[in-house]
Amino acid sequence: MEDIMADVHVEVRLSGIWQMTSTVICSAGSCLVVDPGYFPRELSELAGLVPRRAKLEALFFTHSHWDHVVGHGIFPGVPLYTSAVLAQSIREGGGLAADALNKAREYDSQWYVERPWGYAWPADVRGIDDGGWFNIGDLAIEGFLVPGHAPDCMAIRAESYLLAGDYLSPCEIPFVDDLSAYRRTLQRLMTIITSGCAERKDAAAAKEIPLPRAENAVGMRSHHIENCRKAGLAGISI
Ligand SMILES: [Zn+2]
Repeated sequence: MEDIMADVHVEVRLSGIWQMTSTVICSAGSCLVVDPGYFPRELSELAGLVPRRAKLEALFFTHSHWDHVVGHGIFPGVPLYTSAVLAQSIREGGGLAADALNKAREYDSQWYVERPWGYAWPADVRGIDDGGWFNIGDLAIEGFLVPGHAPDCMAIRAESYLLAGDYLSPCEIPFVDDLSAYRRTLQRLMTIITSGCAERKDAAAAKEIPLPRAENAVGMRSHHIENCRKAGLAGISI
């Protein structure tokens, strides 16, 4: 393995819905788009972030939640990598895959969002197991199965960048699906960050970030109480 790190360029955009994060990673003329979302106008901007002379080699979905999975139509024919758990659900028409598309369709319908490519999964879906790899040009992307927020969550690492999907949000603890899995995942993410991603190692600055950022958002208080209840903190009031 070479010591020299690839020259990696990363662009991050927040969607108008829930600050959902979309990321474009490029290295030596090869690009990966992670969680392209959500509104068609935002997707046009994302497409513009792929340099004209670069090749968009793949998409990646961190998990099946509906705001993460219906933007791929702006990139037709591009293969999708995702966790083996989600890939299996897509293949078999399982609940995770079906729920995501149904919820996106419902949301779009309610708010008159036009999505010209409709609601379907990409034709070429490639599942990654925990610890599995795929490549974008010469750049190796490593996948970590990180359930807890959803059963099919996968974080990826590219060089010193860790993309953790809906974990580690500064707004609020994202929805807890399975508490013990969630706790294991947070522990694991901490280990990964400590071992390779915290180049600046500025824990003091991280601790200065006030939490939660979204305390005044409508519904966030009840969402927080529900998360606390799931964590066994009965009778909490804030
Ligand atoms: Zn989510």
